[in-house]
Amino acid sequence: MEGYTQKEKVELYERAVKKWGADIQLIVIIEEMAELTKAIIKDKRKPSEQSAIKIMEEAVDVSIMLGQLFYILTNPKCGFMQSPEDIEQMVNKKLKKLECKIEGCE
Ligand SMILES: [Mg+2]
Repeated sequence: MEGYTQKEKVELYERAVKKWGADIQLIVIIEEMAELTKAIIKDKRKPSEQSAIKIMEEAVDVSIMLGQLFYILTNPKCGFMQSPEDIEQMVNKKLKKLECKIEGCE
């Protein structure tokens, strides 16, 4: 199976948001996060190969929905006005924070 390019992924996210609307997709994000939460809890209670695969599956669902969330956040038609640069800046800020927690900050 051929992989999707970043551009193709964003086009798909755009088509999904256009088809179902941002409000519905925001609810689906919550639903997928809950499914991931449930999969992790289930694996912690009774670990198995199947429960580990389920975590991976639900993590991918959340990842795809996060792609749509970032599309929504950068689309003024959805009522949000963040730029991709704003998001990238926030990612770097949070990664720096994580690095500080791991290594300690000056
Ligand atoms: Mg799911």
